[in-house]
Amino acid sequence: MQTNVFPIKPHDCLKSSQEIRRWYDENYHLLSRAGLWLKGEEPNTMEPALFYQAELRFLVCRLSTYRDVSVSISHPLVAQIAQEVEGVFTDFAFLPPPKDLGIMTAAHIPLWSGTTTKEPPCAFDVLGISNSFVLELLNLPKLLHFSGIPLFKNERMMHQDIPFIVLGGASSAVTSVLHGPIKEQGFGDHYGLVDAVFIGEGEYSIKQFLEIVKKGKSAGLRKADILRACHGKVDGFYEPDKYEHRYEMTIQSRPEMWVGTGKTQGGLIEISPKEPYVSYPVKSATVYDLDPVRTLESGPIWYETESIGTGSLQISNGCPCFCSFCAESWEKKPYRERSLSKLLEALKAAKAQQGLDTVNLFSFNFNTHTELYPMILSFYREMGSVSLKSQRFDLLSADRFLVEVQQIIGKTTVSCGMEGISERLRRYLHKNLTEEQIYKACEFLFEKGIRELKIFLICTGLEQSEDFSEFARFAKRLDDLKRMMDSNVRMIFSLTPLYYPPHTPLQFHECLTAIEDKKKIGREVERICKFHGMEFRESASYEEIWLTQLLAMGDRRLTPALIRSSITEGFVYYHAVSKELLRNWRIYLTDLGLSEENYFCAKGKEYVFPWDDIDPGISKKFLWEEYGCSIHFDEREYCLGRPRIEAQCLGCGACPTPAHIRKLIHHTVNQPFLKEEILRIAERKRNKLVLRVVVEIESSLRLVPKRFVGVAAARALMLAIPEVIPYYQSSSAHVRDFAEEAAFADFTHGINVYHLVFLSEDKSKDLLNNEFLSLRVNHIQKYCRGFRIKEFVSDSGDMPDVHGILYKICFAKEFTESFLRQKLGEYLHANYVRHTLLKRGGQTVFKVDTKHKKNAVVFYASICKASQREEPVAEFTLFMMVSKRFHMQEFLKACYGFERRKEIVCTQIETLGYYRKNQHGARCAVCNESISERLLFGQPFGENQCLVCSIDRGKISC
Ligand code: SF4
Ligand code: SF4
Repeated sequence: MQTNVFPIKPHDCLKSSQEIRRWYDENYHLLSRAGLWLKGEEPNTMEPALFYQAELRFLVCRLSTYRDVSVSISHPLVAQIAQEVEGVFTDFAFLPPPKDLGIMTAAHIPLWSGTTTKEPPCAFDVLGISNSFVLELLNLPKLLHFSGIPLFKNERMMHQDIPFIVLGGASSAVTSVLHGPIKEQGFGDHYGLVDAVFIGEGEYSIKQFLEIVKKGKSAGLRKADILRACHGKVDGFYEPDKYEHRYEMTIQSRPEMWVGTGKTQGGLIEISPKEPYVSYPVKSATVYDLDPVRTLESGPIWYETESIGTGSLQISNGCPCFCSFCAESWEKKPYRERSLSKLLEALKAAKAQQGLDTVNLFSFNFNTHTELYPMILSFYREMGSVSLKSQRFDLLSADRFLVEVQQIIGKTTVSCGMEGISERLRRYLHKNLTEEQIYKACEFLFEKGIRELKIFLICTGLEQSEDFSEFARFAKRLDDLKRMMDSNVRMIFSLTPLYYPPHTPLQFHECLTAIEDKKKIGREVERICKFHGMEFRESASYEEIWLTQLLAMGDRRLTPALIRSSITEGFVYYHAVSKELLRNWRIYLTDLGLSEENYFCAKGKEYVFPWDDIDPGISKKFLWEEYGCSIHFDEREYCLGRPRIEAQCLGCGACPTPAHIRKLIHHTVNQPFLKEEILRIAERKRNKLVLRVVVEIESSLRLVPKRFVGVAAARALMLAIPEVIPYYQSSSAHVRDFAEEAAFADFTHGINVYHLVFLSEDKSKDLLNNEFLSLRVNHIQKYCRGFRIKEFVSDSGDMPDVHGILYKICFAKEFTESFLRQKLGEYLHANYVRHTLLKRGGQTVFKVDTKHKKNAVVFYASICKASQREEPVAEFTLFMMVSKRFHMQEFLKACYGFERRKEIVCTQIETLGYYRKNQHGARCAVCNESISERLLFGQPFGENQCLVCSIDRGKISC
């Protein structure tokens, strides 16, 4: 094992941003989706030029791909917090998609290059890793190594020019496997894949840390001294190597001996601080009052269709419930809310900064918020759409009106957690949820015509025949209810094996679902669901649960296995854990003299967990008591005040003051508004004002989804004229089909047209009239990057029917005029476009026969010498007037052949204009033929001239 892992020298990576940028410019076409994920410079990212002036450079790193985290709020929030520290520059880095990993390592490109700056990670002062879930940790060694960063803290600390590697995020309290290896394993002084961990919430701690690093750096302090200065000054600051973890190294094969003895054979026996200045245990950072800290407002608009125009506002943090399996519940207590007035300020800022039309109320359960109803009302008034995600069945069952409100605001799919298949198992999971409550909530949902209901279930491994019978009876009741109410709802049950997370009552429990694949239980639940006409899904495999559980329960002795998996064996976690990987990990364990039983067995009250040097705010004693309740299938009511429940404090210790406790147990949700009020808003929203925006997109944005520019235009308008913010609803269309972009096929730049939809009211009409806007175009333009606003047209009506689109295509230099002529001729022939070939003034013209024009996909084409401006890349350009049926990708493939992806992605295609049919039969003043098109948007023809003569005479220039 040892020889396989050490020593590992960092991969030899390019060290200058110029080299990395040059490589990107020349090779982006090789990368997934034409390298958009590494393009950078999204709106709300920092100007790359500021990198050089910054006092401190902070690279926010993800262990997952750009696409996978595009809807996540964590990394943009980290950047937003960091930017509040004066002199700090931020950039982002992501795990490359599968195909790109090999390409980048072969080219010596650091995997964690800054997307906007193209700076290598070693050019930054701090790498802040945002870690959302345990399996992501599998990618850390590889990302460090192939970013040119030494793997271990002891090596990194010797080099002032290597950045600090710190880690935070939702999963930061479960990182023991990163902090080895340990000397006793024979790995010498090597330790620590990260330098420090931020436990808990980062709103204050990130700033505290960056301030100390900034000062330390300017004072020329050693890295070790800077980290030392953080103790006691940075909330939740955990420097793992400052704690000694001592193990009993004898391994025995009788796991039952370990239960309840307080010591484990071959296990961790003691944790102690090594330095007097460190806290022990480290208290997790909690932001008790959410109002003074900002939720995400200025997150980048990522180049991902799924996230464009959609943003999340965190309305509350923590959850008041005590589900025994839920890490969030125990690590993020107590429950806290952001006030409506702060949320409205945040909404306004986020809407303008990110061009939002949809806002998601981000919380563990939105239906616990005190000001839920006024919030829904005001958000619905302000936004095109409001997305409500997680809600509790029990609260829903007591609030029929909320179901009605959800229906009015257009929510047609609902997801809720039922978790245990029987009341007994729900008590084990401390779900506080009866069958009657679920049934009642379903009744309300069916009554209101919900389209889809997704119910989450957990396979605990404890299911018995009575549990299955109860579930079968319940499924039948639901089925009968559906029929009785004549509901067409699509019902999906999604089953996941139980994960026993650290810092929860179930940390003591035997990890049944990891010890054995509980396939039989899944099959029985599936059978019952299907028998009653409901869909069934399994959302995680046994292998995934096994490895998640091992990494979570694992201690510092597992670090060599993590490195072996990631670097020696080259495994990268994207979405799947294979059987082979599980087999490999079993080998790693054996080689290290460790056993999975050691980690998966039941643990006693005094068991020393590898995370005992961390205090998430709830005592181990309380967790043990709760565990006792769970295994006796007993539960207590959670502490949030609600109708007909006398809530009581359970004494978990999370609330900072008695006042906070009182607030929770006397909590109420404000009275709902009158139904008429929301109906009035719904009615008002039907009255729309459509603003047409004609834009010219630069070539640099040609690969981004077309919707992106519409949203960026809305953003520019709202930032320049804040008075319009309350009226903006959505960016509805661009002039061609959105469907085409789903295949990421529209690589054109040039003219495009969007409809921005606003509420039509006196004020918005005043603000959005043509005269007012034309005076402000230059100001609006300042907020546009990569595109230019050519024209605003207020109250434009429907998008007119486009008859013809005029393209200019610049082919790469190696394509000669004769080659292009031949390929174009073949394409026209294959598409039955009858034409005549003419040579005119140095141009080759494909003149389409007039009587065949009606059904042709191409109306006209000409090849001419490229202008000076285009000459560096192209010798010849092609003008084409095509119908809407023309498919650019197919045409390019016909020109280049299927294999020539580089040319297909790199060809510069400019849309010069959109034209409609000319109904008036006017004749061209030059050739006297009838002019068949008239300008809609873009380049006009010469006066009284047809398209052909306009090009011939340079009115539309080459
Ligand atoms: S309701 Fe339960 S599962 Fe949901 S967030 Fe709260 S504690 Fe977790
Ligand atoms: S201290 Fe009491 S009121 Fe506060 S979260 Fe814990 S149980 Fe609830």
